[in-house]
Amino acid sequence: MDIGAYKLSEYIPAKPLVGNLEVCFTDGEQRHTETCGQLKCGDILKFPFARTDFQPSSVEIKESKVLVAADKATETKRVVELTLESTFDYQPGDTIGILPTNKLEQVESMLNRLELLDQADTTCHLKLVFNCSNKNAKLPAHIPATTTPREILTHCLSLNFAPQKQLLSALAGFTSDDKERCFLSCLSSKQATEYYQSLILEQGLLFIDILELCVNCRPPLAFLAEHLPRLLPRPYSIANSPLEAGNRELRVIYSLLSLKPGVTTSMLEAATQESSPEHTKKVVIYPRISNLFRYTERDVGRNQILIAVGTGLAPFLGFLAHKEELLKQQPQQASGQTWLYIGAKTQEAVLKREKIMAWQESSLLERLRMCYSRGESPSYVQQMLEEDCEDLVEFLMKSETVLYICADGAKISRSIASGLCRCLQKAMHLTEEEASQLLNTLRKQGKYREDVWL
Ligand SMILES: Cc1cc2nc3c(=O)[nH]c(=O)nc-3n(C[C@H](O)[C@H](O)[C@H](O)COP(=O)(O)OP(=O)(O)OC[C@H]3O[C@@H](n4cnc5c(N)ncnc54)[C@H](O)[C@@H]3O)c2cc1C
Repeated sequence: MDIGAYKLSEYIPAKPLVGNLEVCFTDGEQRHTETCGQLKCGDILKFPFARTDFQPSSVEIKESKVLVAADKATETKRVVELTLESTFDYQPGDTIGILPTNKLEQVESMLNRLELLDQADTTCHLKLVFNCSNKNAKLPAHIPATTTPREILTHCLSLNFAPQKQLLSALAGFTSDDKERCFLSCLSSKQATEYYQSLILEQGLLFIDILELCVNCRPPLAFLAEHLPRLLPRPYSIANSPLEAGNRELRVIYSLLSLKPGVTTSMLEAATQESSPEHTKKVVIYPRISNLFRYTERDVGRNQILIAVGTGLAPFLGFLAHKEELLKQQPQQASGQTWLYIGAKTQEAVLKREKIMAWQESSLLERLRMCYSRGESPSYVQQMLEEDCEDLVEFLMKSETVLYICADGAKISRSIASGLCRCLQKAMHLTEEEASQLLNTLRKQGKYREDVWL
């Protein structure tokens, strides 16, 4: 990409962010310990939705299994199941937070750019600059009091985010190259709305990509520590029953983008590739607060309609395995009905298809319907729902039925909700508005539960 092409004759750069911190190096290399990064920040640092009394901890990746191979022709993503050591109780549908780390190459390249390779592992701390005039300036809570440049860039700061205009404007001040300065200042301006829309919002250029384009731009580490966002944990759904593993293990399933994979999924992928029986890799996780999107013993006697698209099937694998285990323990127990609707790119992309078929065979699943967006009609879940409209609405309106939707995309969830609205309209002779109101009521009553991932 030629940054010279993004130029305006007249523009006013955004007000640049200002640095209020400095990095002080102290002699000595930091000793390698298991506790690193944000885990060293103490109780003041909160982890989003963390269950109280559980600090994130490092657990072993006990196994990894490829469930779906990537396929370019159908744009199918690679899907991997991880078995992790677990130190807490959970129910299927609960989620864990996984703390990501930035890619090794990105961290090295940043250290190189900041001319900090020699001091990468030297102990340092951040402090406010002498006579700091900004009364709101403070030390970031997500950076340990004693740290190193490598630790900050690996564990604490996000490098892969869409840069806002004030940051771009500040970056312009950190390059010695006129072309780069012009590009960054221009992109930061109000007048360059179209460029910003196209490069940052549509093409998805991230902070790290901007630095790659502007090879002479060297923002100081203290500035980055103050202004780059915190590297945040990502949620993952537990995809198994605790009864299968005696609570000592849990499984999560992730999908990986082929082009530009994300931060956490790249880290998990690297860990699984590097893991061996002699040298198992670890990952830092914590249990997140539960919500209604879970399957417990009390649900065995109830009915469920489960609607899954793509990797969104993951929590339902846990629901069904739990139902199976609970019924094995108490075969006399009255069991409700479970219907499962699955949408996937292709037949091969359905997670654990054989197991699901076996559940249908054993009547653990009363109804199973699958469709493939790269196959024959019906291609989409909402079409299957509409085909089953009368039965589905009758089943949904039973007092003991709860509907769960899990899709790896907000757009997909919205299309399914519209499909359900059309079903309500048709089967109950409602207007569009009445159907949408009814769906909202079902939501409020906890009969319609949704997990939206991305
Ligand atoms: C409650 C909840 C439960 C979740 N459970 C799971 C789960 O069980 N399994 C799971 O794989 N994900 C799950 N997610 C999504 C997960 O938290 C991450 O968002 C996802 O894995 C990407 O993280 P990343 O750090 O690799 O990508 P980031 O670096 O955060 O992403 C960069 C960009 O790429 C996109 N992206 C990255 N990977 C993917 C992908 N595989 N598919 C589509 N877009 C992608 C992101 O949306 C973003 O726009 C869940 C999310 C929520 C809110």
